[in-house]
Amino acid sequence: MKLLLVEDSAELRASLVRSLGAAGYVVEEADNGEDAAHLGSTGEYDAIILDLGLPVIDGLTVMSAWREEGISAPILVLTARGSWREKVQGLRLGADDYLTKPFRTEELLARIEALIRRSKGHSATQVRLGDLEIDLSQRVLSRHGIEISLTANEFRTLAYLALNKGRVISQMELTEHLYDQDFERDSNVIEVTVARLRRKVGAGVIVTRRGHGYLVPTDHVGPEDASPEDASPEDIGPDNIDPDDIRGG
Ligand code: CA
Repeated sequence: MKLLLVEDSAELRASLVRSLGAAGYVVEEADNGEDAAHLGSTGEYDAIILDLGLPVIDGLTVMSAWREEGISAPILVLTARGSWREKVQGLRLGADDYLTKPFRTEELLARIEALIRRSKGHSATQVRLGDLEIDLSQRVLSRHGIEISLTANEFRTLAYLALNKGRVISQMELTEHLYDQDFERDSNVIEVTVARLRRKVGAGVIVTRRGHGYLVPTDHVGPEDASPEDASPEDIGPDNIDPDDIRGG
């Protein structure tokens, strides 16, 4: 999941980047309203964390411009203590949630996670795929209560596809949402990750739509929908990049 973090305090920003990165998010940053407006309009973010008191253009102005442009990413607004007018105005201008400074990082993480989940139409922290259960909060995948061990990268990929269940996700979109800008776009990391996931969870859980992308179907998937050619061990050769060597956050 990719986040845009807009905060002009360098200290707070650095600390949030660390915590969000450790929680598995890819984070892009802006320290003023002008850069924020540009990034938010051009990038694909699963959620935006927006401080309101910003240099150049204030946060409320930036947010209302995004909403007018049709940017629909959920926005968590950071407000100063006691500024209830800002909160009300923020919510009316299109914020989805707010947090008053100072706050605990755990609360920010919990709110962001809930915002993203709800924005994709899931109110529960668990997403079921057939007999698989993905716990987005604990970041655990299990089948009939038995945990299936995934790398951080595999979990991120499966969670993104599962949250977008029923929709074909292109490799481009996966790249945009799961890796930072330095990611080598021609690499086969996503194919390798999907192949590994299929070996761990079963080939039919992630379906390939040739030329379009990947799909986690909403209904039960029979073997006829699987793409066994993509799940063959030959996909993983010594020349392939190990997806977990990529720093994606
Ligand atoms: Ca500020």
